Amino acid sequence: MKKRQHRLKFETVSVLDNFLECIFPPRCFVCDRLLETADIRRQRNVHAACRKKLYPVVQPYCYHCGSPLADTETEYCQNCRKHRSFVAEGRSLFVYRGAVQKSMYRFKYANRRRYARFLAEEAMQRWENWMREKRIEAIVPVPMYSKKERYRGYNQAALFGRALSEKMDIPCIPRLMIRVKDTRPQKELNGRERENNNQWPIQKDG
Ligand SMILES: [Zn+2]
Ligand SMILES: [Zn+2]
Repeated sequence: MKKRQHRLKFETVSVLDNFLECIFPPRCFVCDRLLETADIRRQRNVHAACRKKLYPVVQPYCYHCGSPLADTETEYCQNCRKHRSFVAEGRSLFVYRGAVQKSMYRFKYANRRRYARFLAEEAMQRWENWMREKRIEAIVPVPMYSKKERYRGYNQAALFGRALSEKMDIPCIPRLMIRVKDTRPQKELNGRERENNNQWPIQKDG
């Protein structure tokens, strides 16, 4: 019975996958052009030439949040030195500039939901050992304010969380936390406003 349930779940997932392939055909994370069949067969999510436009975050990076640092003299970024943060330990994938900045914009605002798979794969390649060492029991994506999520149609952090959950085989619980306050995007705020903006906007659901 259990086996049958498992198979049913698997079949449902692949039907859903095929359906999503039609609505959201695979596109290159960097240039957003449709991927060639050869790329898809090799499970490439970016064109070989486009990969050169991605700059992975390497040492030195902030020991606290994982942002890249300009020099090796400091352990923490300016933001973590100055402001209180709820992040216990963070890791980053790519430097947020140029092509990545544009890709993240499309991921958030232009329905490029499939980018989540690429990001999850990259996160696995880069940080799997670190994540396993942390013995993570559940992946809880940063929630969006409900009205915002309804308007956008999806929460990109939840898509990433689910994709990572499948690869890591760790449960993803998107509704464990709820955002109780509609906060302004961090990029629009100065330091003091950022601190106030983050005062308990997220709570455990129930
Ligand atoms: Zn490309
Ligand atoms: Zn930092």
